[in-house]
Amino acid sequence: MARAVERPAASDAAALQRMRRQKQAGTRPELALRRELWARGLRYRVGLRLPIPAVRRTADVAFPKQRVAVFVDGCYWHACPEHGTRPRSNSGWWATKLAANVARDRDTDHKLRLLDWVPIRIWEHEEPRAAALRVHQVVRERQGRTYP
Ligand SMILES: [Zn+2]
Repeated sequence: MARAVERPAASDAAALQRMRRQKQAGTRPELALRRELWARGLRYRVGLRLPIPAVRRTADVAFPKQRVAVFVDGCYWHACPEHGTRPRSNSGWWATKLAANVARDRDTDHKLRLLDWVPIRIWEHEEPRAAALRVHQVVRERQGRTYP
């Protein structure tokens, strides 16, 4: 499965660096969503490590009691059908990288559902207020549920 791919060019390395930095601080769309959730009176965890065995997966925003995990997916990095584009240079390397991201997202969602968690995927292009409403509805539905 692991095929040899071209090494990324310097500009790609810079892009990766940017991606890592954003992961740590929270991206702008993520911060906007958090603000909206907070305004709705919701209290959440940021960057929670999810209880998926054997792999390290974190949620951008999480409600552990309700078992709701929210991911704010960048249109580029997670290959949004509306805005996902691919650079022309090193296209093989990037295609592999983006496909791996998408596969990991689906795998995370699947594993969460098996654990009775609800994954919520939000595209960075979504309006933060509408996204917050979507999250709020799911959290409310799961409020008061008890888990073994
Ligand atoms: Zn998009």
